[in-house]
Amino acid sequence: MSLNLLDYDAEKLAALMVQMGEKPFRAKQLLKWVHQRGAADFDVMSDIAKSFRQKLAEQACVAPPSMMAEQIAQDGTRKWLLDVGTGNGVEAVFIPEDDRGTLCVSSQVGCALDCTFCSTARQGFNRNLSTAEIVGQLWWANQRLSFDAARLGSAVNDDTRIVSNVVMMGMGEPLANYDNVVSAMKLMLDDNAYGLSRRRVTLSTSGMVPQLLKLREDCPVALAVSLHAPNDKIRDEIVPINKKYPLKELLNACNLYLEKAPRDFVTFEYVMLAGINDQPEHARQLVDLARSVSCKFNLIPFNPFPNSGYARSGREAIARFRDILSNAGYIVTVRKTRGDDIDAACGQLAGQVLDKTRRTEKLAETRPILFQQK
Ligand code: SAH
Repeated sequence: MSLNLLDYDAEKLAALMVQMGEKPFRAKQLLKWVHQRGAADFDVMSDIAKSFRQKLAEQACVAPPSMMAEQIAQDGTRKWLLDVGTGNGVEAVFIPEDDRGTLCVSSQVGCALDCTFCSTARQGFNRNLSTAEIVGQLWWANQRLSFDAARLGSAVNDDTRIVSNVVMMGMGEPLANYDNVVSAMKLMLDDNAYGLSRRRVTLSTSGMVPQLLKLREDCPVALAVSLHAPNDKIRDEIVPINKKYPLKELLNACNLYLEKAPRDFVTFEYVMLAGINDQPEHARQLVDLARSVSCKFNLIPFNPFPNSGYARSGREAIARFRDILSNAGYIVTVRKTRGDDIDAACGQLAGQVLDKTRRTEKLAETRPILFQQK
């Protein structure tokens, strides 16, 4: 089988070059061609000797996942369903804003954790994505967006970064697919590839403590933690991995992580579930709980999906909750719901998962996929 160059971060690519009888610096040239210029064809790589290009063409390829469906929301948010083979699809979402463009990237086909309010969890789990399939989402988005920009006549030049930020907040638990996620993030940060600063790549985790501490050493990017509860009792219920790594351990790991992180705070994500975790007493508990960690709060109004069994907290409940936190001195934002008309909002990414865990047998209904022809 041919080697997919999207699977190789700089270090691995340099080793591959040596293995192929080339100097390690060839890796830099290749990274630039593949990731910066989006080349998938070795013929165009004019600064690489023809004989080596031929060898590459025989042994290697640049194979990102291909698009199965694209949906564009009223607010410009785009969701792509990307084909990752054998009937599986994962979703990536691009969220344009005035001052940045954020790509939300998936790390697994489905998710093996069982957060009760998340639609990806309901889809069950099939497998981890490869590095190529993870970084391929960024490769793909850049291609697609620059193609459209050129078609629509907007100015695109080498300085224009259409995707300026990446959040590892799509389908899956990124720290459960540690090695592939780290290699993909290294490419996102590499100056010869995407050159994003560590502050502009955010990993969100439900709280896998040992892997979080490893990430601190290997690739400390900005950190978001799916806290969602002010105490272990509620968190055990809705984020079951809490039974393995309870709040005290998790917060301790956050503090250790911050010693190496590119930002001096952790973002605590907190989904607002009516009647479950949104009461003033919960906010007050949270005020005390989070004291020990330098943090900001991002309240996420629950995004509904069929048979979720939950309801979004009302506006007033969210405002009251926010005020209790901010009056105690915390910085709090309420996440704007983007792309919810195409089910592209947090926790709504479901992709197409051939479940291996049988969780989906409980699920009666599948969602139709709209294909918007461009
Ligand atoms: N598994 C990682 C990455 C997913 S990030 C994590 O748990 O952090 C997606 C964010 O959306 C997480 O904070 C997740 O808890 C939250 N989320 C999941 N389902 C949601 C829903 N239905 N409505 C709003 N937010 C949701």
